[in-house]
Amino acid sequence: MDFRFTDEQDLLRKTARKFTDDEIVPNISKWDTEGKFDPVIWKRLADLGFMGVCIPEKYGGSGMDYNALAILCEELERGDTTFRTAVSVHTGLNSMSLLQWGTEEQKQKYLVPQAKGEKIGAFGLTEPGAGSDVAAMSSTAVRDGEHYVLNGQKTWISLCDQADHFLVFAYTDKAKKHHGITAFIVERTMPGISSKAIKNKYGIRAGNTGELFFENVRIPVENRLGEEGEGFKIAMASLDNGRFTVAAGAVGLIRACLEASVKYCHERETFGKPIGKHQLVQQMIANMEAGYQMSRLLVYRAGELKNRGVRNTRATSLAKWQACDFANQAADDAFQIHGAYGYSDDYPVARYLRNSKAPVIYEGTREIHTIMQAEYVLGYRQEKPLNKMLPAWTPGE
Ligand SMILES: Cc1cc2nc3c(=O)[nH]c(=O)nc-3n(C[C@H](O)[C@H](O)[C@H](O)COP(=O)(O)OP(=O)(O)OC[C@H]3O[C@@H](n4cnc5c(N)ncnc54)[C@H](O)[C@@H]3O)c2cc1C
Repeated sequence: MDFRFTDEQDLLRKTARKFTDDEIVPNISKWDTEGKFDPVIWKRLADLGFMGVCIPEKYGGSGMDYNALAILCEELERGDTTFRTAVSVHTGLNSMSLLQWGTEEQKQKYLVPQAKGEKIGAFGLTEPGAGSDVAAMSSTAVRDGEHYVLNGQKTWISLCDQADHFLVFAYTDKAKKHHGITAFIVERTMPGISSKAIKNKYGIRAGNTGELFFENVRIPVENRLGEEGEGFKIAMASLDNGRFTVAAGAVGLIRACLEASVKYCHERETFGKPIGKHQLVQQMIANMEAGYQMSRLLVYRAGELKNRGVRNTRATSLAKWQACDFANQAADDAFQIHGAYGYSDDYPVARYLRNSKAPVIYEGTREIHTIMQAEYVLGYRQEKPLNKMLPAWTPGE
């Protein structure tokens, strides 16, 4: 096992860290309060090649490996969860799915502009009546000649007002349950689509999340991703990639909590000494450090499996579950270490705590991942290769 990063990965980390320090950290408090961020930041993310990390060069990406994607997510979430969430849905859930399941035409038309950051991709799986229980969805797509007619509603969709392309899941045959769900590439400009932002969210306030409505949206057959009935499988494979980015981002959030807490421990004095000298405060710092190191190892282990092109649902789920739980706890402890000052926006820890909650819910709740891990251990669930695995990663390809 080699735990060293390559020169290219080191450079990516430096670039992403500088971007975070120069462009996110000075502005995030304002963006978080106002509930939006300057759209110019999208262009900056794209210009730096951040929207195509892990996508092969021939499809407009930078051809780096999965652990490079993890590095990017860790550094961005150290600034704010909003930006890592954007990479998770745009790259992890949407672009990577096009790479895995798309036809050559679909890759040229949708993946290439997404990898270059010219177009934004989002992921529409959740519905008002279907979150963890995906098969409870009620959206339908009915075949009509060379089109499908899509009707339904999605909710809690990240980038909902900003995305140009959506990967949407709907029933083409409800009687077949999981095997009756199909995936579609939907363009915002198709008539019958509307979206509405969810206001006053608890966290990730600088990012857009909302509802999507489809009313008789005519989708050309060539926009079907995969075969009819493959939608559930595609959604779960997409989540393998999305969850990896969420886990990597959580590592960055733990680091942000550690950095803020260590600084405050040295500054604040009680009972004649810096609070870092009190053992109960040290306990919280030690837990954060342990969570940080363990989460990182789980993330890079999942990344190594992905780089080899093998099924990694189990390792990715474990990394996502643990890293997000550690981050949620680290944010709570960082807040506690700051005492009353944690409550003010002079310090970032209240934002960290608010932001740490959504990742424990999206892309599989804590409970869903707990069940998955238990079922793997008990032998009730197995990992089998999919009919279309992403190939082993080859540098630059
Ligand atoms: C900020 C944010 C952004 C999001 N972005 C997207 C997006 O871009 N695209 C998208 O499709 N979705 C998105 N989501 C939705 C997210 O994926 C869902 O919220 C998530 O899957 C959980 O679904 P739910 O909220 O309906 O909870 P439910 O599934 O209703 O669960 C409610 C509670 O019951 C528990 N529970 C459910 N089933 C079981 C069980 N079998 N055993 C034990 N406990 C169980 C859950 O763990 C949870 O605690 C986003 C959510 C948030 C908060």
